[in-house]
Parts: sequence; structure tokens; C-alpha cells
Amino acid sequence: MTGPGEVKRVPLRIKLPFATADEFITRYGANVAAGGLFVATRSTRPEGTPVSFELVLADGTRLMRGEGAVQKVVPEAEPGRAGMLVRFTRIDAQTKALLDRVLAARAGVPAPQDPPLEPSPPLPPPAPLPAPERAGAAFTPVELPATSPSGLRSVAALPPTSSHSGVSGLGKTPPLGARPVTGSTAAFTSEPTKTPALGTRGPGGGYAPSPSPVPSSTPPLPPRGTASIATAVPSSTPPLPPRGSTPGPAPAPERTPPLPAPPTPAVEPLVTPALPVRAVAPPPSRPTVPTEPGLPMATVSVPAGEEIVLGIDLGTTTCRVAVFVDGAPRLVPITSERGIALPSVVAFDKVRQKLLVGSPARRYAVDFPDQSAVGFKRLIGRRARSKKVQELAKRFAYPIVADPEGDAGVELGGHVFGIPELSAQLLLELKNAAQEYVGKTVNRAVLCVPAWCNDYQRGAVLEAGRRAGLSVMRVLNEPSAVALAFGHGKGLARKRVLVYDLGGGTFDASVVEITGDDIEVVSTGGDAFLGGLDFDYRLAEALVGAMPERPRERLIQSRMGVERVRDACENAKIALSERELAQVNVPFATTDDAGNPMDLKSDVRRDFLEQNTSDLVERTVLVTRVVLEAARLSPQALDEVLVVGGQSRAPAVRRALEAFLGKPVRTDVDAQGAVALGAAVLGRSLVQQERGRKGALLSEVLSAPIGIAVRGGGIRRVLERNTRLPADKTLAVPVKQGQPTRIAVFQGTAEQAEDNEYLGALQLVGDRTGDVEVRFAVSPDGRLALSATAPGGKPCDAAFTTADASDAVRTALLAEAPLPFQEPEAGGTKGLLGGFKRLFNR
Ligand code: ADP
Ligand code: MG
Repeated sequence: MTGPGEVKRVPLRIKLPFATADEFITRYGANVAAGGLFVATRSTRPEGTPVSFELVLADGTRLMRGEGAVQKVVPEAEPGRAGMLVRFTRIDAQTKALLDRVLAARAGVPAPQDPPLEPSPPLPPPAPLPAPERAGAAFTPVELPATSPSGLRSVAALPPTSSHSGVSGLGKTPPLGARPVTGSTAAFTSEPTKTPALGTRGPGGGYAPSPSPVPSSTPPLPPRGTASIATAVPSSTPPLPPRGSTPGPAPAPERTPPLPAPPTPAVEPLVTPALPVRAVAPPPSRPTVPTEPGLPMATVSVPAGEEIVLGIDLGTTTCRVAVFVDGAPRLVPITSERGIALPSVVAFDKVRQKLLVGSPARRYAVDFPDQSAVGFKRLIGRRARSKKVQELAKRFAYPIVADPEGDAGVELGGHVFGIPELSAQLLLELKNAAQEYVGKTVNRAVLCVPAWCNDYQRGAVLEAGRRAGLSVMRVLNEPSAVALAFGHGKGLARKRVLVYDLGGGTFDASVVEITGDDIEVVSTGGDAFLGGLDFDYRLAEALVGAMPERPRERLIQSRMGVERVRDACENAKIALSERELAQVNVPFATTDDAGNPMDLKSDVRRDFLEQNTSDLVERTVLVTRVVLEAARLSPQALDEVLVVGGQSRAPAVRRALEAFLGKPVRTDVDAQGAVALGAAVLGRSLVQQERGRKGALLSEVLSAPIGIAVRGGGIRRVLERNTRLPADKTLAVPVKQGQPTRIAVFQGTAEQAEDNEYLGALQLVGDRTGDVEVRFAVSPDGRLALSATAPGGKPCDAAFTTADASDAVRTALLAEAPLPFQEPEAGGTKGLLGGFKRLFNR
């Protein structure tokens, strides 16, 4: 009987096909959030329906009990599978304890035992939940299907095929047949929503709210064979300022927004669904410390008044964040399948109409490579129409499109995302993890970029930071960060150090001088298209190449099949850094001529991997040679060799480098954490300097020349590569009175202006005829600023437009170049340096 004022609840008794709570956690945990769960059923109830629920194990033991309301009906969460999201409004203590275990298991940490669970007032007498034998019209029995184990396997994200390798035809495969997906946006959560509203870029580079809901927290992945739970709250953070606007104070960080009010009135919440989930386990030796209200318990102790700056490595494959506490930089633990880093993947879940970030996106990428942006850092700050992007677009499994500014963007789920927007998603994850770690809000950051990033790319990284609500104190070159991490606190007397960084997608080599805490970059170079991915594809190519022809052809026609092979090869490759033998095993990789499934199974020896990748290793050695030559250094002049980046863990890499240099490389550097650690050291120093104390000094060089287009399509270099920063140079440009004069500015080493990265067009209007002095000033972190002085020393009207120009405008710009071509001065590009200039052609 329902008394006056009482809510009539629909009883749901859900019988689970699991024998134990542990099995439920492992196999169904991804469908459960602190604030609710997904119930797979065709007998969905209308949204807003109050329910009382009970989940029981296969033997009838009760697992969860509580009350809630139908938050959202998902008509087809998976093909043929409907379901509904039930948001909790009250749960009993046993249920709360189970939720804590589910969430802790997902975060990869032991369930928090201490402090004890929040006290929960007892639930009212059980709702009239029907026993199975009483199943009747008012009872909705829901048999959840057992999750297939494959749905829970650790799977790799899909990277773009690399230019230098790959099974032939890998990149040409048509996208996977689209799965039937329908469904509406799910909208409940109890986990912190971390993301400002995404938007598509509006005219003029501003950001307009996205036309369709794109909520943004990271949900668990649906186990295969079941429908999934969604956990996002549509975000309502106002749009961030457009690129180019003055970076004002960072907006207040978003905290967990309140859950949307349940549609059912008069339900008194007994347990706040928004329970903070501790994402990291505190080290046993340290007690957790109190924290800012609204944040979970901190893992490390930060004295009051201590300012924390995030040191962020936004890697092509993995991202890391570090903070300086207790006198040392520390990596913030982020649990993922492969260690403690955040996979650099953002995917769009079409069913739930939301973005997935990090590990869930990486898993999603295996099934939906065309909806998952992997390796997108290679596109940051690149013009959509540039040759590089055109080349890359052929190799990416997801569509590369132009954003409204003409920059390369990604189309996911019918939405165009700028690369800064996607990067901001990763930054938000890192920021939130760090905030939980230190127990306070943090707004300031040092962001790292590969040393070869040009001005425009640095601008795009800054924009990503702004969109993530970060005030970026400095854009730091990755090799400098490694040197800082190494040199910090050692009080080194002047050391000349080579930093060799071979990551997932890119290679960087730099010579750095360290004196105490002062870092000076002497020379830098690299290859933006050489990294661990190439090694994976080489192995894949060798193994697939050994298959019979027709099954092989069928395999390489399947993007997903290729990625499964690459993923298995990556695992084997990583194992082979430690062992002599590993196995690649891809069940059902392809089919034989009769249509039967065929596995790809092979034992791989380390020397087989090494034979197939030796030229890649040699190329890194060659680039290193060029960088040393540019610094006029012989290997003997190096005091230390720091080898970082995941792929540098391969013994063959270290061996080849040691053979070339004739000296051992250091093995005491954190190969994959050094960049973030060094950024945290610099962040700390910058705060110290603001307070008038001494901090590390950093002096970097320009990684690629900056110049202007001249008549005939060539380029005149204004600032050369390796010029010490900050740098400042003027160039006389003839103008005619009252007539606008435009010059196109480029960055790169190519001799034809158009083959370099276009930075923008400068328009000058002189009030008399004569030479205008155009000043090119580059900041310590590599950002270009232009200004002009008219004849007679008066300021000149000068406007620098950075949005990409159409072909017609570019042609006009080149045609009207005010300066003639001038032979470059002899020297400088001869020898190895000149011969291998293409290695630096970016
Ligand atoms: P990035 O900075 O580009 O994000 P990382 O420095 O994190 O990349 O390195 C990722 C790359 O390192 C991947 O290609 C991965 O396969 C590779 N990698 C990681 N660990 C090892 C290992 N032990 N041996 C060989 N390669 C590894
Ligand atoms: Mg890296």
C-alpha cells in the first residue's frame, strides 16, 4: 500500500548470472557508478519512474538494494539491447560498501577500508520486492547476460599507421562497417565531471557551445555483450576565450557539479550519490592528509600556502603529470592498463553521445578506430591543408578535417573537434588526478612540447591549456625538462648532456648544458614521424607477411584486424626488451578460404625484432649525429647521455647509441616520467622566482628557422635554427605610402616558403614611402611576436593574422612579396647537416 505523500515505486528485482560479488565486480563493474547503474532490459520504464531495486546473485543472495529513479532510457545501447540508467536516491550500507569496491577496483586500487564507510541511515522497510516466484505484472525480472571475457580484455588503441613501415595497404582499409548505434545521451554520474563544455569552433576562432550534447567525463567501457552504464553530467562550464585572447586568470576549476535533480520528487537522499572516489592508493608509509573541502583525501601532504604547479607531459602515446612536493618532483599515479600514465586517446561514444578519455577511449579504439583519436598530438597546430597533414590523413583511421580556422581537426561522431579541444580533455584528466593527489585545486602548469614545435604549435598547446582551465606559466621543451629532472638538486658543475628521447610517435635529440640548476639547450633536432609505433608495425608486417596470401589479404583489409595484430606485436616488443622470446597470439585474426577462423600465432625472438627494426634505430643514430654536428661536438665531448622515451628501453636502441657514441648511456633516468618530473621542477622554480627566491634558470634555442616569403616562392630566414632565446631581430621591408603591404611568415627549414609551416600574414600600412623595420621577437618559450616601426622611428600600423589562408590568398601573398630572393650565405648547410636537412623538414 502506498500511503499519502509516498512515492509509488516500481519494484525491480534483478537476478544476476554471477556466483559471487567478486565476479559481479569484475564482470559487471563497468556498468556501475557511484550514482547509479545500467540495467539491461527490454522492459524499460519511462524516464523519471521511481523504482525500488534489488540485485541478487545467481543463488539469490542479495547484493544491492535501494531506491532510485529511471534517469534515462537507452533504446538500443548495443544492437538489439535496450536498457535504462537507474540513478540511486537511497542505498543501504551493504550496497554502499559494494559500490566502493566496484569503484576502487576500477581505479585499480584496493577498496578503501579506512576511513570507514559513511554511515547510512537504514532504509525503510524493504519495498515489496517480488521474489522470483512472485513475478507478476509489476515485476520486471532482468536477466543480465554474462559478459564475454573478451569484453574485459586489455586492448590497445589504434594508432595512426606510421609513414615508414606498415603492412602494405594497412592504411588503405576502408573503415569498419558501422555498428548500428542509436540511443540518447545518458546523464547521471557521481564521479567528478571535469570538463568544460566542448564546443565547435565558431567564426573568428571563438568557441560556440556544441550544437549537440557532448558530455565529457570518462565513463567505464561497456563490457561486450551487455549494455553499458553512462556516467556523464552534461557540462555547463562557459566557453573559454578564443585563441589569441589575453590569457587571463585561469577560471576556477570545475568541481563535481551537483547531480541533476532526480525527476522524482520527495525522495530524501540517504547516501549522497556523489561519493568521492579515491583514485590512488596512499603510500603505506604516509598517512593521508586533510584536504580542501569538496576534494577527496589527499595522498601527499602539501603545507598550507604552498603553491603547486603541474608539470605536464602531453605525449603522443601517453600523458603524465608531476608535482613538486616535499622537496622533490613526484609523478601523480594514474591507473591505466599499461602503468601509471594516461593513454593519449579521446574517442566519441556514439551510443552515449559522449567523449571517452584515456583508458576507456583506448579500449574503445579497437572496435571503433574511426571514432577514436589516437596519436593526434602529431596534428597539433598544423594547417589542415599542409602537405604533412594531407599525408598523415591517409594513415589515420579517423577522419581529419579542417576546423573553422583551417587547422587540422578530427571528426568524431559527426562533431568536429579541434586538436586543442581534444588535448584539453587529456589535460583535464591529468589536472583532476593531480588535484586529488595533492588535495587542493591547482590552476597553474608547465606544459611540455617536443623541441621542434613551431610557434603556431606552441600557441595551440597554450590554447589546450586554457581550455582545460590552466594558466600556463611556460611552454617547456621536452629535452630541457629531461635535463632538469636529471640535474635538479645534484649541484652539477657544468655538464654537457645528450638527451635522446624515442617515444611512441616521435624522436627528439638535443644537446643540453647543465650547470647546477641552470639548463642551456645548445642544439636540438628530431623526427616527428619516428617512434615506437614504427617498431610495432615492422613486427606486424613481418608476421603478417609470413601468412598465406589470401588470408593475409583478408586480414589487411580489416582495420580492426590490423590493429589487433599491431597491439599484440607491441606487447611482444615490450616483453622482448626484458626477454629473449615472446609470443604473438591473435585469435581469429583472419579467415581461411573456407571461411574458418585463423589465428595468428608466432614465437618471436628478440633478434628477429631487431633485424626488422635495425634501420629505424639507425635513423635515430643519424639524427643524433646531425644534432651533435650542429653543436660542433664530437661524442667524446659529451659528459652524459640521457636516454628516455618508452621505445628507448629496447636494448638494441641503447646498444646502437653506445656503439656510435663510444660511451655508456645512463640508466638511472625515469625513461617515461622524466619529462613531467622536469616540468614540475621548472614550475617550482618559477614560483620561487616570483617570490624573489632563486630558482632554476632555463635558456633554450629556436628549434626551426623563422622567415618570410620572398618573390619567386623562396624564403628569407630572419632567425636561424638554434638562435638563443629570447631572440630579437629586425628586417627592413619597403612600403608605399598609404598602400597595405603584406608579408607571409613561415617557420621551417625548407627552401620553398610553402613547404614550411605557415605562421600568418603581417599587414603593414606606412604613412609614408620607405623602409619599415619589422621586429621579430621570440620569447624564452619560443612564441613569436611581430611589431613594426615606420620610417622616422614612429610605430607603424601592423596587424598579424594567424588564421590559415586559402590557396588564393596564399598565392596572392607570395606574388606580392615585397622582398626579392637572396642567396643564403655560404656554409651552414653543408656536410651531414645539409645532407640530412630533410630529417628536420618541419
Ligand atoms: P610518448 O612520449 O610519445 O607518448 P612514451 O615515451 O610514453 O611515448 O613511449 C611510448 C612508446 O614506448 C610506445 O611505442 C611503447 O610501445 C614503447 N615502449 C614502452 N615500454 C617499452 C619497452 N619496455 N620496450 C620497448 N618499447 C617500449
Ligand atoms: Mg614523450
